[in-house]
Amino acid sequence: MAHWFDLGDVAVVPLIEDDRLLIEPGEFFPGLEPDLAGWYAQEPWFDRAAGKLVFVIQSFLVCSADEVLVVDACVGAGKDRRRAEFDQLPDRWMQQFLATGLREVDAVVFTHLHTDHVGAVTVQREPVFPEVPHFVVEEEFRYWSSAAGGAAMRRTGDYLADSVLPIEQAGQLSFVAPDAVVGKHAELVPAAGHTPGNVCVRVRGSAGSVLLAGDTMHHGVQLRHPELSTRYCVAPEQAAEVRSRILAEAGDSVLLPTHFPAPSAGRVRRGRTGYGFEFASDLLRTGPFRYGEWLA
Ligand SMILES: [Zn+2]
Repeated sequence: MAHWFDLGDVAVVPLIEDDRLLIEPGEFFPGLEPDLAGWYAQEPWFDRAAGKLVFVIQSFLVCSADEVLVVDACVGAGKDRRRAEFDQLPDRWMQQFLATGLREVDAVVFTHLHTDHVGAVTVQREPVFPEVPHFVVEEEFRYWSSAAGGAAMRRTGDYLADSVLPIEQAGQLSFVAPDAVVGKHAELVPAAGHTPGNVCVRVRGSAGSVLLAGDTMHHGVQLRHPELSTRYCVAPEQAAEVRSRILAEAGDSVLLPTHFPAPSAGRVRRGRTGYGFEFASDLLRTGPFRYGEWLA
């Protein structure tokens, strides 16, 4: 079921590449043995039959009357990737983008440069959105271009070469501060830890706001155990501090973490045994998003 989020004069539209990626708990969170009585070990968070965590791979359009941003870009189509679920995918991302009626965007924003956040901006090493700035924190790009970043990329395949360097070589990579304003309704929020230049994106509309929380949290189990960072976090302790801070400060605001199961957006609730997550129905609209109809 297609859906989007209504913030009044701004719409946040997910482009979902994979709505049910299953991963072994211990592969993602070293040593984790889920408490099967926990809320995070039930649907939609956990596939009981497979004994695996459920993740979504998605990116977001931030649409207003005079501006369209893309935040992150999934795995992308036709890429050589080590993980079977990411290898040589069909072009679900572009099909969904075109279905909105949009043909161009004003800017791309990367929360960080992991393989599941950058792929759809190139096809055959050519930028999909020529001339358009692609914002990233400079430290993030420097890290993945370094020897340490290159070593970390051995598990995934060299996605920097086919998905990020073509953007840089076209002069479209634009370095920004981790708290930069990146659009009329969007600003970055520093969140280094998962990766060195990791950020969230705060989106404000006339009828609500959401924090695109990126990969500061990947799964509900981290609300029960905020100290739990992933195997793929570059600085796990720093990632845990950032996550704890976001959860503590969330209040009644809506978080939209990239990999939470659909519809992914919700509010943090504090309970006796830690935090819970209540999916936000107030901002949620079901059905496909069409930009022209939304404007009219
Ligand atoms: Zn991710």
